[in-house]
Amino acid sequence: MNRISIRASAAWLGPGKWVEDAQIVCEGGLVTYAGTATGIGSADREMRVDGFVMPAVADRHVHIELSDPAAVLAGGVTAVRDLAWPVERIFPLADASEMPSFDGPLIRAAGPMLTAPGGYPTRDGWAPPGTGRELSSAEDAVAAVEELARLGAAAIKVSLNADAGPTPSDAELAAICDAARAADLPVTAHAQGKGQVERALGAGVDELAHTPWTRLSDEVIQAAATQLRVVSTLDILTFGRDTPEIRTALDNLRRFHVAGGKITYGTDLGNGSIPPGIHTREALLMVEAGLEPEEVLEAMIRAPLEADAPADLIAVRTSPLEDLRALDDVQLVIRAGRVVGGG
Ligand SMILES: [Zn+2]
Repeated sequence: MNRISIRASAAWLGPGKWVEDAQIVCEGGLVTYAGTATGIGSADREMRVDGFVMPAVADRHVHIELSDPAAVLAGGVTAVRDLAWPVERIFPLADASEMPSFDGPLIRAAGPMLTAPGGYPTRDGWAPPGTGRELSSAEDAVAAVEELARLGAAAIKVSLNADAGPTPSDAELAAICDAARAADLPVTAHAQGKGQVERALGAGVDELAHTPWTRLSDEVIQAAATQLRVVSTLDILTFGRDTPEIRTALDNLRRFHVAGGKITYGTDLGNGSIPPGIHTREALLMVEAGLEPEEVLEAMIRAPLEADAPADLIAVRTSPLEDLRALDDVQLVIRAGRVVGGG
């Protein structure tokens, strides 16, 4: 058995769990112990970290083939969710990502976005043919969801981008949500353009794949906060510059957060110049939207470090609870109990 023991001067194991002189023991790809150092012995490998250990990061909105999986993993992201790519390319890659030989994060995928004929992203330069699945009817929508469920989809993505073309009808949208619920899959929507977030809410969509960058009324924000979660993807609206879109998105997300809405971290990696690995600027924008650093970390991690959790962790030099910029300096990455890069 390959048992690894990691000792660190401090660790944040998950919400509310900060420990000094920490020890994490991993075996068979899972955590077997995480807490105060007890001197559990007989590990095949004992590591000492002069710094801060925390769970590894999950990026819940990527287009992984537009980036570099090895660099994503080396940068501290051990799991990603791909939210639109052709079936014949993404599902084999997702299968391959479960193998120890795969140099990249664990990949889960939605497959293509469900859209209207000619709708987003079927005419967009970034999207190879098959990134959008054009629906012809509500029955066809059900068939598409059932096929994606059979292929192992982790979520169903629907395109409600009225700024970029036609969108599925209300009947198709309702059929998608019903079929996804029957298959026990969440529905995530790219909602863009007047009234599209309202449509997503009306149909019972579970998640918005982006923080909306058209202003939402307080009433819509309240409804959204009780019904769905939002994937942050803030930096694609700014790339470090001040833009009207980022101001509106931050205002939406601030009110959503105050209303108790659930926010998760995602970068839309593959869109523009988002770097592979942990994207600290995205985390800092979440602070601008009113989240405490610990809330940001909670939104970023794959899972808290505790017995039976995936043995996915990172080490950084200083505490990100004090300054999230600590995430820029990843010293160690462990995925499924294996040290990345053999370091
Ligand atoms: Zn995307």
